[in-house]
Amino acid sequence: MSPMPVGGLVPSATDHAADLVVRNAKIHTGDPGRPQASTIAIRDGVITVVGDDRDVAPHIGPATKVVDALGRRMIPGLNDSHLHVIRGGLNYVLELRWDGVPTLRQGLAMLREQAGRTPKGQWVRVVGGWSAEQFAERRLPTVAELNAVAPDTPVFVLHLYQSAVLNRAALEAAGFTKDSPDPKGGQIVRGRDGEPTGMLLAAPSALILYSTLAKAPVLEGEDKKTSTRHFLRELNRFGLTSAIDAAGGFQNFPDNYSTVIELAEAGQLSLRIAYHLFPQTAGQEIDDLARWIETARPEDGDEWLRLNGAGENLTWSAADFENFSQPRPELSPYEAEFEKAVRLLMENGWGFRLHATYDETIRRDLAVFEKLAAEGLFPAGNRWLFDHAETVSADSLDRIAALGGALSVQNRLSFQGDAFVRRYGPGAAADAPPIRAMLERGLTVGAGTDATRVSTYNPWVALHWLVSGRTVGDLIVRPPQNRVDRGPALAMFTEAGAALTGEEDLKGVLRPGCLGDLAVLSEDYFSVPEQDIAHIESLLTVVGGRIVYAAAEYEGLDEELPPVSPAWSPVARFGGYRSTPRTGLSGARQAELLGEAAAESEQHRRWRAGRGLAPETGNTFVDPCFL
Ligand SMILES: [Zn+2]
Repeated sequence: MSPMPVGGLVPSATDHAADLVVRNAKIHTGDPGRPQASTIAIRDGVITVVGDDRDVAPHIGPATKVVDALGRRMIPGLNDSHLHVIRGGLNYVLELRWDGVPTLRQGLAMLREQAGRTPKGQWVRVVGGWSAEQFAERRLPTVAELNAVAPDTPVFVLHLYQSAVLNRAALEAAGFTKDSPDPKGGQIVRGRDGEPTGMLLAAPSALILYSTLAKAPVLEGEDKKTSTRHFLRELNRFGLTSAIDAAGGFQNFPDNYSTVIELAEAGQLSLRIAYHLFPQTAGQEIDDLARWIETARPEDGDEWLRLNGAGENLTWSAADFENFSQPRPELSPYEAEFEKAVRLLMENGWGFRLHATYDETIRRDLAVFEKLAAEGLFPAGNRWLFDHAETVSADSLDRIAALGGALSVQNRLSFQGDAFVRRYGPGAAADAPPIRAMLERGLTVGAGTDATRVSTYNPWVALHWLVSGRTVGDLIVRPPQNRVDRGPALAMFTEAGAALTGEEDLKGVLRPGCLGDLAVLSEDYFSVPEQDIAHIESLLTVVGGRIVYAAAEYEGLDEELPPVSPAWSPVARFGGYRSTPRTGLSGARQAELLGEAAAESEQHRRWRAGRGLAPETGNTFVDPCFL
């Protein structure tokens, strides 16, 4: 094929030709040395030129792929610094996602259709990524509604870290009866007759929810790889090019890591993953850590798949549950075991990340770290960070800075903001977490989502939360003085993530010598109205010079994936995150839809109240437009 001049760029390069050139873009580089540019060239996965057409012309060869960005905004690829991406990938095609769905009515219609296409023996599961507050109806589905849309297929609907609603078939499949005892920290809600109603409550531990979910069938063989590849592609759809995996419960090493390891070996990852190792069994944590220290090293791997240390749990007894609909858990003394774990890691050159929601926990952890610091063991050149830190105090932030620590924050309050405000009041919520106080101290603060079981994995919902301080139900939680401007918020999702894995010289900015990871956006993040930030998607995502996602004018330029398997997968029918088509739907029609849903909900509430079933609070639709 003879090369064509593209937009006046005539192929001329011979020995240093780029593989990919994207031109005519509004590039936000993140590099203070050259903040703006219009054209970028990538060769062998690495950026070779950031500049304009003239700079890049000598790099166009006969085989160079040239893409016109049509004046759109380009940013460095996003990095979610706290994503359960490995577990999410192994489950993705089995789950029906309510992420982004605007009404419960639509969510129930999806359940009905999916139940009809689900074979016997399989479950329909909605596992996180949504909140009752995002629905016009502002409530959970009832067991009766689940029974009506799925009379025979087990349906399991997880709501945040708080509860799960199961239909009759799911109660049966999970083996819950009158005689099932409540597990520790959990409650099986029962009727007057003692029979389980279908509602499970985290009280406060979500173990009851996750151990029930673990009774559903899992994927086998090649399907695990296909599911993971489709999940990574779904993340690429939003401009993600990297993630730091936080491990998690039921994610065993090495068994559950084998899928991403095999994909990395085959060159089939479309997202760079840095991962952590998380002891699974209470009482055996030290043994597990000691064994891993023998067989693995932080930094093992390469820029596609790399070990980054231990966590986000080190010992189970130190874990505080982030269930804001319940009181803060009072942790029994855990320091002795915890100190052993941290000492073992630090002595062996292992950094870590640590789940901690409340300042009460963080202060106890810091006391242990300070003791080890007095012995010269901390941080001793190791990277370490706190995850979540919703109620961390100014004093604790100073202590974290003194110990060379970092932080990773997530938009869990996009989904749990209402529950947090109800329990702790708007004053405490305004600082949850105190992001500006963290940044003002010069701490590295990575941003992320904590998807997939509470928040959605869509990073633009998190960026919207960082910038606007609002929940998905549009409640304003953080005031202007604790919000982040768009530029610094983006840096938390790019540069800071790179710093948390020691890769700040390799990615997070667009600069010659850095990895060729970028996204061309559907709308300009820097100029769209604030409420539209949550609706941004990528149209062209590039990782290491490979086009891994392409939409609109670029459709078909991305790598091919095997079809979703199994064929009955909810993802094959509904995809992942449900975008609300803002342009396709007129404002009047949208208002009408919301009105219908609200009226239906009000009717439903009256019906329940008439039977003494309506709870006292939290279920009324309060928008005055609909009253
Ligand atoms: Zn966590």
